[in-house]
Amino acid sequence: MLVVMKPDATAEELERVLGKIESLGGVPEVHRPKHVIIAVRGATPDPQVLSSLPGVASLEPSGSGYWLASRRCQSEDTVIRVRGRVVGGDNPPLLIAGPCAVETEDQLMRSAEAALEAGAHMLRGGAYKPRTSPYSFQGLGEAGLEMLARVRERFGVPIVTEMRDASTLELFQRYEMDVIQIGARNMQNYEILRRAGTAGRPVLLKRGPATSVEEWLMAAEYVMLSGNPQVILCERGVLPPASVATRYQLDIAAIPIARRLSHLPVIADPSHAAGARELVLPLAQAAIAAGAQGLLVEVHADPCRALCDGRQALEPVQARQLVESLRRHRFLPEPPPHAVPRVDCRGSIAGRTGEPAGGTVYRMHVERKSRE
Ligand code: PEP
Ligand code: MN
Repeated sequence: MLVVMKPDATAEELERVLGKIESLGGVPEVHRPKHVIIAVRGATPDPQVLSSLPGVASLEPSGSGYWLASRRCQSEDTVIRVRGRVVGGDNPPLLIAGPCAVETEDQLMRSAEAALEAGAHMLRGGAYKPRTSPYSFQGLGEAGLEMLARVRERFGVPIVTEMRDASTLELFQRYEMDVIQIGARNMQNYEILRRAGTAGRPVLLKRGPATSVEEWLMAAEYVMLSGNPQVILCERGVLPPASVATRYQLDIAAIPIARRLSHLPVIADPSHAAGARELVLPLAQAAIAAGAQGLLVEVHADPCRALCDGRQALEPVQARQLVESLRRHRFLPEPPPHAVPRVDCRGSIAGRTGEPAGGTVYRMHVERKSRE
């Protein structure tokens, strides 16, 4: 049972509630994230006795393991801002795109160009990859973070990247990684969740493939209880039944369920759910139609040569088609005229040429190599 005290509850009222819990055989433990939450273990006191005490705001039933992440705690949507990008509430869906892994500087820059030219608002790329096989590419580690810092410097867009081990948080802070991703495999790694709670930057929390929505929200609660209210939930597919041909199964219903149970922004990752690039577009559309407040999509400049997840990575042209299609269906707003990339013929993005007030969209000057 969780006993939630009113924000203005006095110390005396708290003492009285704690005394009452103990006298009824419970063992109280006090948490003070913003207002006091008392976790009651041992015997469960009669809820009626506790709820009538002054200072008590609400009682969460036994088994309910989260409060800060819940709509009962906060009825209005949490909106998270990162360098002028916004996710949550009624804001247009946020598009995070980029390669699965940072492989080389050239691969990262070209994939970033492709993602941004398509219309991404944030870039993603893993420097630390959690891989099922120890023989698979594990990521470049700190060198990858350095490259991500350089790509941010070049394009001015926030970076989303995965923290695979709690011990690397200082590195993520040193390279000022904007959003820390906690991967599906680590959704229940409580050390990482607690450390991410001290990160002082938003956390993108993927749902574990074999976890319930409630377990996902309890994982978010770990981050929030450690002091970080900025959690973005990301549905990325659950274990599919044997009959399903996709890598995972995007749990569409989890999107409105999580939004109903929680005030946190909920986005979807159709790439890892699908495992195949041709399925990313329909899954992305379904996710947005179901209420996802953003998408995380893998885009690679040259997916055939990708060291990780190439089969599901969109090619640059497909990334553009994805955004065009989402715009056609009014899932994404049309870009303001000044945000349309200008393309000429030499090879790479020559530089950002302007940033409108608010800093939410970037104009790019894209150059293509001519064949001659
Ligand atoms: C990823 O985003 O590249 C990744 C490893 O995702 P997940 O944790 O969802 O498998
Ligand atoms: Mn991946």
